[in-house]
Amino acid sequence: MNKIRSIKGTHDILPGESTKWRNLEKTIHDICAKFGHEEIRTPIFEETRLFARSVGENTDIVSKEMYTWKDKDNTYLTLRPELTASVARSFIQHSMKNKSPIQRFYYMGPLFRRERPQKGRQRQFHQFGVESFGSEYPEQDVEIISIAWHILRECGLKNNIKLNINSIGSIECRVAYKEALQNFLRPHLNMFSETSKRRFETNPLRILDTKNQDERLLLKEAPQISSYYSEEDLIHFESITRFLNDMGIQFKIDSNLVRGLDYYTRTVFEFTSELVGAQNALIGGGRYDGLIETLGGKNTPGIGFAAGMERFLIAMANTDGKIQSLKPDAYIICQNADYLSLVIQLSNQLREHGYKIIFDPLRRSMKAQLRDANRSGARYALILGEEEIKNNTINFKDLMENTQKTIPQLNLINFFDNLTN
Ligand code: AMP
Repeated sequence: MNKIRSIKGTHDILPGESTKWRNLEKTIHDICAKFGHEEIRTPIFEETRLFARSVGENTDIVSKEMYTWKDKDNTYLTLRPELTASVARSFIQHSMKNKSPIQRFYYMGPLFRRERPQKGRQRQFHQFGVESFGSEYPEQDVEIISIAWHILRECGLKNNIKLNINSIGSIECRVAYKEALQNFLRPHLNMFSETSKRRFETNPLRILDTKNQDERLLLKEAPQISSYYSEEDLIHFESITRFLNDMGIQFKIDSNLVRGLDYYTRTVFEFTSELVGAQNALIGGGRYDGLIETLGGKNTPGIGFAAGMERFLIAMANTDGKIQSLKPDAYIICQNADYLSLVIQLSNQLREHGYKIIFDPLRRSMKAQLRDANRSGARYALILGEEEIKNNTINFKDLMENTQKTIPQLNLINFFDNLTN
């Protein structure tokens, strides 16, 4: 039989790698808690219409990339391609607006998009993100950007990121701008790619996002969205830039920055990093004041961001971003199986005191065990040979310094505590 392999665009997270994931997850939990955000976990699959309605029928995600099927009761279901829609659905379903005028969430978990797999782009990938529902004010936007910034800093990425921000105005501003942009583009349309031509009708703002150099050149002459801001849009955006300056967070205003999803209003932002290669977006976020209403809830402003966890880990691997080691503190080696009960007792005692301990469950020779101890990265080997058993001692070998000492078994924990403190 052919070997069964994982599906294209999906990856196993193997031991070693999973430690890095847990460290990243811990950083996210810790920083979000500092900002008063609480974790929300929603189901992996939802009704298809949730994403169609919120993300937008004409986006790449909904039109091409969703894993959707018709269930036995004829409802269409979809593996979630993003999480804001699910969080918004849950917020409405549980009438959370009635519980508190401001609701702060964060999430992490797997998402599914049928994209062309490449480095930093997978079909099953993971995001963490934060959302805050209830405030329309710019200090809330800055608070959200600040969470992202603190997580990046904690991951050792502060010096390798760029923050781009833009405002795409309120919905009225966008309607007027969309028309102006279409009027500008129409006479040049034959020079644009098929993708851009398609976007011209459905989602013309996305054309501003193009990576095609010729198209970018033409777009230099295009009308700017900032000319269509209302007074309130302008004040909102200016306050954000002022608050960011107050906090010492550097940013660049990128007037071509638009986000792929339909539900954004006003603030959009993106953190990019050279450390992740061609797919350089690490975090994307923005304000979505119309989303809750679109999904049938009471009009509630909201803002959030989503970050790709695989890309975070790629970036962290390319810096000296601290990754805490999970290597064992000690490897217990014994000369023969008669001593196993002592090995098991000592392992448990040491573990109860917080040490990471392994021993050899293969009953190999002492030489092989010592080799394995070195391979495991353990700092110490605790050796129980015939001599030690006779004298109730243990041989304590520092594998890094290559020194050793024999101590009474009774003193083991004390000895260890003194060494590691
Ligand atoms: P989006 O939800 O498209 O705004 O993406 C937010 C972030 O998720 C991006 O900045 C990436 O870091 C990450 N991301 C999006 N799509 C993928 C993918 N297919 N594979 C890996 N990471 C992704």
